[in-house]
Amino acid sequence: MAENGADVDLLAEAKHYVLDFIERNRQALQCVSDSIFYFGELGMQEKRSAALMASALEQQGFTVERGISGFPTAFIATYGSGSPTIALHAEYDANPTNSQVSGVTERSEIVTGAPGHCEGHNVNAAVLVTAAVALRHAMERYGLPGTLKVIGAPAEEQLLSRPYIVRDGYFDDVDVAFHDHVLDRLGTDYGIAQSAAISADFTFHGEAAHAAMWPWKARDALDALVLMDMGLAQYREHMLPTSTMHRVVTEGGKQPNVIPSETAVWWYFRDPTAEGARVLFEQAQKIAQGAAMMANCEVEVYVRAAVWPVRLNQTTAEVIQRNVELIGAPEWTEQEQAFARELQRKAEVADDGLRPAVSPLEGPTKQIAASNDCGDVSWKVPMGRVWFPSNVPHLPFHHWTAGAALATSIAHKGGLVGAKALAASVIDYLTTPELVEETRSTFAEELGGTRYRSLIPSDQQPPVDLNAEQMDRFRPAMEAHYIAVAPRFSA
Ligand SMILES: [Zn+2]
Repeated sequence: MAENGADVDLLAEAKHYVLDFIERNRQALQCVSDSIFYFGELGMQEKRSAALMASALEQQGFTVERGISGFPTAFIATYGSGSPTIALHAEYDANPTNSQVSGVTERSEIVTGAPGHCEGHNVNAAVLVTAAVALRHAMERYGLPGTLKVIGAPAEEQLLSRPYIVRDGYFDDVDVAFHDHVLDRLGTDYGIAQSAAISADFTFHGEAAHAAMWPWKARDALDALVLMDMGLAQYREHMLPTSTMHRVVTEGGKQPNVIPSETAVWWYFRDPTAEGARVLFEQAQKIAQGAAMMANCEVEVYVRAAVWPVRLNQTTAEVIQRNVELIGAPEWTEQEQAFARELQRKAEVADDGLRPAVSPLEGPTKQIAASNDCGDVSWKVPMGRVWFPSNVPHLPFHHWTAGAALATSIAHKGGLVGAKALAASVIDYLTTPELVEETRSTFAEELGGTRYRSLIPSDQQPPVDLNAEQMDRFRPAMEAHYIAVAPRFSA
């Protein structure tokens, strides 16, 4: 990258330093990863996970602010000062009923019915913290100017936190952001990767009455809900062909002789573009108002989550790719390969084992229908994503097989190369100011005329009690499996 005006010696030395640092601190990485695996905390209840990450960063000299944007389990840890400002962010939540023993090839729960990690957000957290600590020591040692912001983003599985964190200005002064996520390969990609989604509750309020005796006294909240459903069914003909919407009735009344005074329906509205999702949601709100009016009821709308599609910057992807190729895929042992192939057979997918090499950077990625709440970050600032091979190829996430490798040497080795790729890519940015400029300009081109605006209402507050009851029920039994030691990083 000498053509970008980098101090080549400084870059090479600092990069060598972070790679070596991460290698020397592999025990600490494992400790963060395995601890969070056994915490198995659901979104909004990631108390132990967030506390562990925030204290590890604080002990290493980061200034930590906990509970940002109204999320008790979100945090921002800052190190350094001046330009450039680089943000690293990742999620660390688990899923309901995903409790799975690691290192075995059959369905076996750690705690029956409990939440757990069956994707690998535990390793996302470990990669984030380890890369950040390595970078902080490199910044001090080599006098690298710049600000490192590490953002802990709760409740990704409910698409919750990052739109709020972006809305509240935590990314305003960020030049480049990086997201790290578990997958089955070491690599990256660019282009629009995921879809926009708005998830909202519509609650109708009316008045109850005996359905046989005094129905004229009632205002039927179920009528309003049904009318809304009819209105949206008619509207399907006129919505963008790219849009989709789906719903479940979460409250439909209790028994037929009581006209319900309250009903609720939960809708998802999706489109490849944020604008498409917004238009669909606005129409749905009009239809809900009309339906409520027809039934002499009132309607209340609560946006559970609203996210932009994930967009990945090409310049950042090229930087990550160069580092991915420098670092290379982990060397898998025969034992690890056999374990992976056995899990693949159990999941009834191709049993070709773990990937022996890194993937090339191909053309723009294919946009998928799923979403991730880091989408909002990626329209606010240029964002790159490091995929790392801590899980076995082809396994379906949130299925028990996808939890079975998450506290094994596969997860650890995958996390190690992930942290190295992430830290090395940030070193490129910290030592090459022109690269920041180039990224900013390709980002502007990629955005075209699209202007980011949040899809969540400006006064919206996060649902802090989400999953509390479930987590409180299982936590005592899960505590028996917690790892007793704290991660120890050393320079
Ligand atoms: Zn995920």
